[in-house]
Amino acid sequence: MTDSKKWVFGFEEGDGKNKKLLGGKGANLCEMTRIGLNVPPGFVISTEACLAYLDDPQRALPPGVWEQTQAAMAAVEKKSGKGFGSASEPLLVSVRSGSAMSMPGMMDTILNLGLNSTTLQGVIKATGDDARFGYDAYRRFIQLFGKVALGVPDELFDREFEQVKHAAHAKQDVDLTAKDLQDISERFLKVVEKHTGRPFPEDPYQQLEIAIKAVFNSWGGKRAVDYRRQFNITPDMANGTAVNVVAMVFGNRGDDSGTGVGFTRNPGTGENKLYGEYLTNAQGEDVVAGIRTPKALDQMDAEMPQMAKELAELRSKLETHYCEVQDFEFTIERGQLFCLQTRNGKMNAQAMVRTSVEMVQEKLITKEQALLRIDPISLEQMLFPRLDPSVKVKPVAKGLPASPGAAAGIAVFDADRAEHLGRDMGQKVILVREETKPEDIHGFFASQGILTSRGGKTSHAAVVARGMGKPCVAGAEGISVDVNRREAIVGENRFKEGDMITIDGSSGAVYLGEIPTVEPDFTPELSTLLGWADEVARLKVMANADTPDDARRSLKYGAVGIGLARTERMFNDTARLPIVIEMILAETPEARQAALDKLLPLQRADFRQLFEVMAPHPVTIRLLDPPIHEFLPDAHQLEKELGELRVLAQSAHGMTALAGTLNLLNVGEQARRDFDVVRRAIDPMLVEEAITKKETMLKKVRALYETNPMLGHRGVRLGITFPEIYQMQIRAILEAAADCAKAGIKIKPQIKVPQVCTAEELRKVKEFVDTIHTQVAAQYGQPVSFKFGTMIEVVRACMRAESLAEEAEFFSFGTNDLTQATFSFSREDAENKFLPLYNQSNILQDNPFEVLDVKGVGKLMKLAVEWGRSVKPDLHVGICGEHGGHPASIAFCDEAGLDYVSCSGPRVPVARLAAAQAALKQRGRKE
Ligand code: ADP
Ligand code: MG
Ligand code: MG
Repeated sequence: MTDSKKWVFGFEEGDGKNKKLLGGKGANLCEMTRIGLNVPPGFVISTEACLAYLDDPQRALPPGVWEQTQAAMAAVEKKSGKGFGSASEPLLVSVRSGSAMSMPGMMDTILNLGLNSTTLQGVIKATGDDARFGYDAYRRFIQLFGKVALGVPDELFDREFEQVKHAAHAKQDVDLTAKDLQDISERFLKVVEKHTGRPFPEDPYQQLEIAIKAVFNSWGGKRAVDYRRQFNITPDMANGTAVNVVAMVFGNRGDDSGTGVGFTRNPGTGENKLYGEYLTNAQGEDVVAGIRTPKALDQMDAEMPQMAKELAELRSKLETHYCEVQDFEFTIERGQLFCLQTRNGKMNAQAMVRTSVEMVQEKLITKEQALLRIDPISLEQMLFPRLDPSVKVKPVAKGLPASPGAAAGIAVFDADRAEHLGRDMGQKVILVREETKPEDIHGFFASQGILTSRGGKTSHAAVVARGMGKPCVAGAEGISVDVNRREAIVGENRFKEGDMITIDGSSGAVYLGEIPTVEPDFTPELSTLLGWADEVARLKVMANADTPDDARRSLKYGAVGIGLARTERMFNDTARLPIVIEMILAETPEARQAALDKLLPLQRADFRQLFEVMAPHPVTIRLLDPPIHEFLPDAHQLEKELGELRVLAQSAHGMTALAGTLNLLNVGEQARRDFDVVRRAIDPMLVEEAITKKETMLKKVRALYETNPMLGHRGVRLGITFPEIYQMQIRAILEAAADCAKAGIKIKPQIKVPQVCTAEELRKVKEFVDTIHTQVAAQYGQPVSFKFGTMIEVVRACMRAESLAEEAEFFSFGTNDLTQATFSFSREDAENKFLPLYNQSNILQDNPFEVLDVKGVGKLMKLAVEWGRSVKPDLHVGICGEHGGHPASIAFCDEAGLDYVSCSGPRVPVARLAAAQAALKQRGRKE
């Protein structure tokens, strides 16, 4: 480093775009000065100076920094007409930190720096002998400097302050006289001297040097380092903090003075109207500190009309310059308005969307800028019901926010009761379980939300609830669930079946009683914005949807088809599960066919409904995928029940024996009759029958047991070994399609086959399809068109893409399974056992089940697309795993040349925006 390096930049010379060098606050102070806004004179010491300083073990300011600071001070003196340390016209400054990203944990601002016993008298004189003002500024400075730059605990100051206030019988700070404040200042000076062992620095330049170093040191302090680690702020995002030195202006010089904060538009609603608060006769920190209640900026019109006008001008200048909603700080000193800070306003999703659309209409920004301005994920906030924010209640327990949205309903402790009360009785219910299992699925359908006391974000409850778009709080360990008593205990509280509770799946909070929720609305602005998104996006967005309700919802959200309809969800319905079990237990092909014949009309009706809802969009139906034993009860449970039945059988035999001897006892007629009723109810024959049935079931469950079910007998392998199942589903699809075609409904059915690893499998299933297709066409006298394709979720399928493309008209990447297969990770085990550590220690940057692994899985996908299209150039390719709803993965899909992404309903708007952003960025890269 040479002496000539430029470390210090006057506000009129700094590059307002260079936030890395000057920090966000500093860059904007320069920018505002440059465009002629009224900013007090000042300068920025760069982040590079900070890094060089922290690099030096001696902790000396890098050569040149101090000289340049003195020169910059001289320039500020000249502009303000005041002198730093001057006894007659003293210049006071604030020292403020600011890095490229706003970051709590760095140093607080020091105000009124430059005050000492001499300059204080100058300040008092300059304000027309306002001693109260002078000592008030002085005591604020000593405390701030003492605390922030010298590390003196606040309590030491507060104690002195309270003592003086008490002695003076002052209720509020404003009741303190100049004399009181002088007393406080003197006590504060002693506090500092006692705590630091040195007198309070009198020399303004020494004060400045200490303050600058304190700002630099705060960048390396524990609070700031922890914060950066927590929020993954890397050096390329923000490196070092700048120091801003700004001439003081005073909002506490009387009723023509004041201070406030403003948003150029309302950050909660997006309304195009100045929003904010101010206080008259106050310093900036008073607004934030909440010592006095600020007034809404609306009121300024009446109170200070001239200032209100100037503020309106400031607002419009800021917006036309930055073309972004600004969050700014201002101070008015005796009728003169100063802007002390501006930055892009943080807004909620609704406000982001509304301001984006309106700013396009006002020609402040382009459509492209509007689309790029919004974080797609944030749109989800707009679509889930939220707790009414005006109701303030404390939660009784907290779990993981497993599936977003809020819901209220009566507590119900098992799935059957949920179905009874929720579906049959039409009540709003929350299903409360220790954890959930696949056999609880009917309870999910009937519930508003799910609450579990065990399990994580990937537990069954969480995954299924997310898939259905229902709120879920998982693993609320403070709750102990007692299914038998149908109640739950939470600390000192308990709730029983039928008691109202409310859960917030976005925060994980659980409340007793009903808290009203507010329904999300697809605002007109959101529709407009997503309309623009669809115009620029290349990728189409489809939805994963299993039921007509899901389908309707995804349509509402703008899906242009169903990319994945899972047929197994349809099997789990209470009315059907027994038939499915009958099918599985069947010993002969005839018995199996009989069960399948019962399922056929049910599935046909399912598909017909889906087709009708989605017409004329495509509906992609995946043939049965999960291992078949998932539909059967658990072996341990069966064993337990068998044990109980055997005990019962013994008792039943005993009772029969007993019946004959009962007359030996002197029991009454009534008792004997009662006994008989019970005895007949547990007729040994009935019990034996039940035992046989359970034994058969257990045998089947054991026979179907697999060591690695996810790599076992599932997907197309089932279709090959039990062809009747796939044939039934294919027939149901094609008959439903023929029904629709007959009714004149335009539909696009697509059949896809899961877990395929060789073209031979596809060819086999295609034969079923062709045969059944011919039969159905003849039977209905109606041509039926459809598409036939394959899931790509096995590594070998990627490698054999060319030969698969000969059979398939489309590829649909199932990236959940493909990720498991590529890493050889089982998802549950990975997420519960080692992935967190892998992420922490940076062995893997992300969880590949959340963020598509572009380098590995993505490479396979690219190869498969390329090879598939080399055989069939118009091969239609999409993705239907969870990744289909993640913006970064969507960007990859765009780049890899996919045609569509398919995701859960509530993710559809997210995906539409992400697809547009991907297209815009891709275009930008090409240009
Ligand atoms: P933060 O980063 O916490 O917003 P700031 O550096 O903006 O901290 O300072 C906090 C407050 O101090 C500001 O809101 C402003 O009102 C006040 N302030 C800072 N510098 C000055 C100054 N030169 N003159 C008057 N008030 C100031
Ligand atoms: Mg600020
Ligand atoms: Mg799969």
